[in-house]
Amino acid sequence: MKRIGVLGSTGSIGRNTLDVISKHPADFSVSFLAAGRNVALLKEQIERFHPKLVVVADEEHAQRLKELLESPVAAILFGPEGYSEAARFSQTDMVVSAIAGSAGLMPTLDAVSAGKDIALANKETLVMAGRVVLKRASEKGVNIIPVDSEHSAIFQCLRGEDPLSVKRIILTASGGPFLNSTREEIMRAKAKDALRHPNWVMGKKVTIDSATLMNKGLEVIEASWFFDIPVTKIDVVVHPQSIVHSMVEYHDGSVIAQMGIPDMRVPISYALAYPNRLNQHEYRLNLFQCQNLTFLQPDYQRFPALEIAYRAAKTGGTMPAVLNAANEIAVEAFIAGKIGFYDITEIVEKTLLRHKPMSDENIDDILQADGFARAEAKNIIEGIIN
Ligand code: MG
Repeated sequence: MKRIGVLGSTGSIGRNTLDVISKHPADFSVSFLAAGRNVALLKEQIERFHPKLVVVADEEHAQRLKELLESPVAAILFGPEGYSEAARFSQTDMVVSAIAGSAGLMPTLDAVSAGKDIALANKETLVMAGRVVLKRASEKGVNIIPVDSEHSAIFQCLRGEDPLSVKRIILTASGGPFLNSTREEIMRAKAKDALRHPNWVMGKKVTIDSATLMNKGLEVIEASWFFDIPVTKIDVVVHPQSIVHSMVEYHDGSVIAQMGIPDMRVPISYALAYPNRLNQHEYRLNLFQCQNLTFLQPDYQRFPALEIAYRAAKTGGTMPAVLNAANEIAVEAFIAGKIGFYDITEIVEKTLLRHKPMSDENIDDILQADGFARAEAKNIIEGIIN
């Protein structure tokens, strides 16, 4: 029985994780659930999975949750200290890191420091602090298993292979909702248009990032850390059907792909059960229903974010953290209807230009760069609005 703690239990990945756990009660139990402000859903999750520890965003929501619960749970914690304590909770074997955005970094690092294996869905952990997190993981003997569909695919395609025989990684991208839109159409797009993802049901931030292709840029950076390969050996291919989740090309000419229906419960179950595989008959891929698998070159004109992300990664240091933070602020402003679609990437680019990169060996420098980027991005947004 593997004891699983979930950071971000009420989000899209968190809910899917609990769905997988509920179907395999002999394999998994839930040790803690950490959510934000959705106490109504958290209440249901607590009553169904009986965690020993729960965490919410703040004291007010802790109080609200207490009032909602019919029978008391062992402990309700709140705030950054609460997330940190849950991440280090002794009765956990694996932590699912699924808090959205940069808020997921510190609890994940705490879990690694406490020697917990990680099922990693939070991209920011490696994008911002890949060097710090991986060093700590190797010191503590921690396994970090990817949850993101692309990274799970690459991880599976690399299993048992000699890293020296890898020629390149081919990361697939769905292309998002604007794959077939003109630049003019995209320019006029509103949040509701960008939130209509054709294949995947995900949180708002990731869905907007899929529309700009920034999501793919962040995934390239993440893959570079995960698989210890320079970004120059990672190519992005647009694959609108989202059936091939990514590929690895080897020096002998072989290309190994991992395929499956686009459902996050498949890569989640792989991470939870690693190194084993669960019996799940509900996610079968019907090859006769996917006879047209297409692969296209990404269009850097309509989707400049991808190129910006590659540049930030090549500079390295704190640049990827700045890229990520500026993007978070810009996406927030776009969802709020304050700025246009292409403003997102412009804000990110301007913020990067204003940053003097520092070394990424120290978590405090990374957090400082993150703070700098947020403030700068907000300034730039003010300039656009006024
Ligand atoms: Mg992905």
